[in-house]
Amino acid sequence: MNTIRRPTQQPVALITGAGGGIGQAAAQAFADAGYALAVHDIDTATLDPVLTALAEHPVMALSGDVRDPQVCAHLIEATRENYGRLDVLINNAGIMRRGNALSTSDEDWALTMQVNVDAVFRLSRAAVSVMQTQERDAQQLRGAIINVASCWGVNPGPDHVAYCVSKAAVASLTQCMARDHAGDGIRINAVCPNEVDTPMLRTGFAIRGLDPQTALAQLDDTVPLGRVGQPDDIADAMVFLASDKACYICGALLEINGAKPVG
Ligand code: NAD
Repeated sequence: MNTIRRPTQQPVALITGAGGGIGQAAAQAFADAGYALAVHDIDTATLDPVLTALAEHPVMALSGDVRDPQVCAHLIEATRENYGRLDVLINNAGIMRRGNALSTSDEDWALTMQVNVDAVFRLSRAAVSVMQTQERDAQQLRGAIINVASCWGVNPGPDHVAYCVSKAAVASLTQCMARDHAGDGIRINAVCPNEVDTPMLRTGFAIRGLDPQTALAQLDDTVPLGRVGQPDDIADAMVFLASDKACYICGALLEINGAKPVG
């Protein structure tokens, strides 16, 4: 594991699921914005391109299944121990299971809630505990948490009941925790993307027997802005929400959809 011990004056961001499509883009965007990084994934091989791209950058790699409460605690503590602080937590790791209520097994329901909801709760709770101990900045703020919900957490789409419910829970958790911890100087917001061209989306097409490239091209035509979202579109919004430019934004569910509503 590529861990660089480097107490830093740079702001520090921890990104879960950083080996995935949106996660890799987020790692690059936060590095470009001057953050020291802790990048995490259950599949450590997916972090290799991130570590290669950021070879000149302060970055530490972390692994583990976020379903394990001890992993969640470790991710926060290892980041704080390595860098001396935690300024931004990006709760990005997530999974998608297809199915309506009749076709969703107890196992898929539980798995979805454990990864998409329970882990976000535990990581956020641990991050708030660390951030509460940090100095307030000029804006009287101490840190920021950005959850990756989904437009389907705001308006559910068809045939993904477990996923939609899990992302609605993330949206509600974002609003609840934002209210409760704004006074601590911790801003908590969520991005809510519509379709983004990542392995998650392409795998979904493949499972349905569709050619991902063809399906993506067809999807472009359904988006008023003319194209499916790219991981950078989401990563740029995350960097903005973490920045001083967003210092009065707290509890927001930012839909990023190229003007394509769920329907
Ligand atoms: P992705 O599959 O490319 O990335 C998800 C990452 O999470 C993977 O690297 C995976 O290894 C990691 N992960 C999964 N389960 C884990 C676990 N138990 N422990 C630790 N890590 C785990 O998908 P993506 O599209 O980049 O998704 C990132 C986030 O964006 C997810 O929360 C997803 O629900 C959300 N999202 C995606 C889309 C989309 O269209 N791609 C739309 C809306 C929201």
